[in-house]
Amino acid sequence: MDLGLRGRRALVCGASKGLGRACAAALAAEGVLVTIVARGEEELRLAAHDIGCSSGMPVGYVACDITTEHGRSAALASLPHPDILVTNAGGPPPGDFRDWSRDDWLAALDANMLAPIALIRSTLDGMINRRFGRVLNITSAAVKAPIGELGLSNGARSGLTGFVAGLARTAVRHNVTINNLLPGYFETDRLKALFDARARQADIAPEAGREDELAQAPARRFGQPTEFGAACAFLASAHAGYITGQNLLMDGGAYPGTF
Ligand code: NAD
Repeated sequence: MDLGLRGRRALVCGASKGLGRACAAALAAEGVLVTIVARGEEELRLAAHDIGCSSGMPVGYVACDITTEHGRSAALASLPHPDILVTNAGGPPPGDFRDWSRDDWLAALDANMLAPIALIRSTLDGMINRRFGRVLNITSAAVKAPIGELGLSNGARSGLTGFVAGLARTAVRHNVTINNLLPGYFETDRLKALFDARARQADIAPEAGREDELAQAPARRFGQPTEFGAACAFLASAHAGYITGQNLLMDGGAYPGTF
């Protein structure tokens, strides 16, 4: 299927590796002019080079912290009028809510709620004026089924989800959609870090924790970032203008509910 994206411009945040990178690669493969953002310049530059080589498209990059005002200004200076915006940043650390200070909460809110809202605020009206826009927020399956030790994530991302639910209904008449992508377990460095933290907590080998999770997973595997990127590209496509305000859970069937 031709996704009808050739020549569109996309800003993809948190994209030197993992799910953000997979979204950037899937969009570039569809002929989108992609600019990727992450904090570490070297890894980001290599990612831009690799995606450019495999897609044949020029890929821009901006090394900055997207959770800061300064970082967002730098990213938007490089690509001021994106047609597609993928918001993403690192997830907050696991832990016990008794240990979290106000500053810990503010950092989680900045990264996983306020930064996406600020980026949407800077780009949505341009999309509306051009009568095409796709915003995809990478959130988490934890929005639907909270994960005990990820309370900072559960809380901050739920705030973003609630906000987006309202806004999405106001933009869709202009062919501008806003949807959230909810990853369950995907094979990335973030997942490895989560299993390592759990293993330290339970005093077991990280591999044992991983095997445990795999045995319980209905798919008996974790997701591949390329699968995530493909879903992102479809929701960004010309064909997805009637899908908005949705939370697409990609977890291999792990969520046990009927809906
Ligand atoms: P990852 O650690 O593999 O990659 C994160 C990317 O974001 C990297 O490119 C990193 O450099 C970049 N990044 C982090 N903080 C940033 C910042 N402040 N500014 C700019 N770039 C930043 O993580 P991932 O597995 O791809 O996860 C992406 C998001 O999805 C995270 O928020 C994570 O919590 C969430 N998530 C992941 C999973 C999973 O199984 N992988 C599950 C649920 C939720």
